[in-house]
Amino acid sequence: MKTKYIFVTGGVVSSLGKGIVASSLGKLLQARGYRVTIQKFDPYINIDPGTLNPYEHGECYVTVDGRETDLDLGHYERFLNITTTKANNITTGRIYQNVIDRERRGDFLGKTVQVVPHITDEIKHNMLILGKTGEYDFIITEIGGTVGDIESLPYIESVRQLRWELGKNCLCIHLTYVPYIAAAKEVKTKPTQHSVKTLQEQGIQPNILVLRTEKPLSENICHKVALFCNVDFDSVFQSYDVPSIYEVPVALANQGMDKVILQKMGVPAKGRLDLRLWKNFLNNMKTAKKTVTIGLVGKYVELPDAYKSINESLLQAATYHHRKLNLQFIHSEKINDENAEELLKNMDGILIAPGFGQRGIEGKFAALKYAREHNMVTFGVCLGMQCMVIEYARNVLGLAEANSTEMDANTPYPVIDIMEEQKHLTMMGGSMRLGAYACAVEEGSLAFKAYKTHFVKERHRHRYEFNNEYKQQFEDNGMVCSGINPDTGLAEIVEVPALRWYLGTQYHPEYNSTVAKPNPLFMSFIEAAMN
Ligand code: GLN
Repeated sequence: MKTKYIFVTGGVVSSLGKGIVASSLGKLLQARGYRVTIQKFDPYINIDPGTLNPYEHGECYVTVDGRETDLDLGHYERFLNITTTKANNITTGRIYQNVIDRERRGDFLGKTVQVVPHITDEIKHNMLILGKTGEYDFIITEIGGTVGDIESLPYIESVRQLRWELGKNCLCIHLTYVPYIAAAKEVKTKPTQHSVKTLQEQGIQPNILVLRTEKPLSENICHKVALFCNVDFDSVFQSYDVPSIYEVPVALANQGMDKVILQKMGVPAKGRLDLRLWKNFLNNMKTAKKTVTIGLVGKYVELPDAYKSINESLLQAATYHHRKLNLQFIHSEKINDENAEELLKNMDGILIAPGFGQRGIEGKFAALKYAREHNMVTFGVCLGMQCMVIEYARNVLGLAEANSTEMDANTPYPVIDIMEEQKHLTMMGGSMRLGAYACAVEEGSLAFKAYKTHFVKERHRHRYEFNNEYKQQFEDNGMVCSGINPDTGLAEIVEVPALRWYLGTQYHPEYNSTVAKPNPLFMSFIEAAMN
């Protein structure tokens, strides 16, 4: 079968959940036995989102091959249980950089370099790369932003051209919003009509519409949209609010989306839709009666997307343990030695979040001191692990001024220090230690009990590391390094065996946890918190 390309655009407003719709559609095609991957094209000028503050676009997700990417790639991996790579996320910045590098090399042989055809050719080339590997039956491409944005234009034009070139092997899905106006007690389709019109003006007639709505829409409304937007009635789907994002694939399957797409693309349906494992997971989620309460200590509490992968990893592990997850965000700028008890006493476990910089750091130490002294189930991730080490140095090793050189360059006890290879770097973008590295897990440790294997590979995003000059002093005082990078000796996991479950990882296990395969450390953390 020739590779099929499905493009997903969005209209009316942003934050409609294009990533979830793309992931859900991918799930359905996968559940029909096809090989699927999803890629995202982002219209901003940043080369990658690694230099973006989480307030801009939420979490920065990291692929195994060390690319800092949009958080939607996390959804793709969690829904489809696939591995994405740097080819799965491209930004305008990268497209322009590639074209400009070639211009400087003289590759264009004296031609004027223009948005059309040079930028659009580069976009098209990148849109087809994964398809050319022969590894996939379907490539779903999500176009970031909203139709009508100036910066999306070259992408829409590229999709228009590909549509023309690929014919039946290409299909366009447009996701729009149908608001409910409470005063009029009516849903409104006008924004959808306008958004489709904008797309048509740019040369694309969508084959399929997905209407995002708070309440289920009547058949009449869908007929009206179909008629006014030149779309078949059976190709108008709705994506109404459901209690969990993981219910979206089932909601779309119930409307027959997979069947319509296969039929429109001339693909004979091979086998039936097998969502058994997925539905088991949903069923566990719905029928769980007991709750596990986890406190997430971080500085982006008002912005749950900042810790997306952690939230989802906790939810997946809780669901596998047949518990409801009660996730409480604890602001690291608001917790201190005086109120730590009040804020933490009702938690079954706490997770100290990753992060950068000084803001909120003292609160993480206060939370950790309380948790350690009260033998709470505690998980530190990246900066969270580094904070565990610093707090232990200050309050157990007696090194009161211990710190990370990230927070205090002149600390007399740099228990966390900049990595050697980072010392002379001046460029910020893409220069951290990124991607999957091996970790040798110490037999008999808590980590080994969770992973049940001697070697794991997990993903990283950091510049600082545990300072091995202090290793002996920590081990003599009860904090051990139970996971080590076999090539460099870098401490990857620390734990305190005398406590119930007190463990930190320099890496980010949350990037490697899917609905089909929850991460073993999160499984072990939740299990400990349940007891
Ligand atoms: N700021 C720390 C470092 O660079 C931790 C980074 C993180 O939590 N991802 O090492």
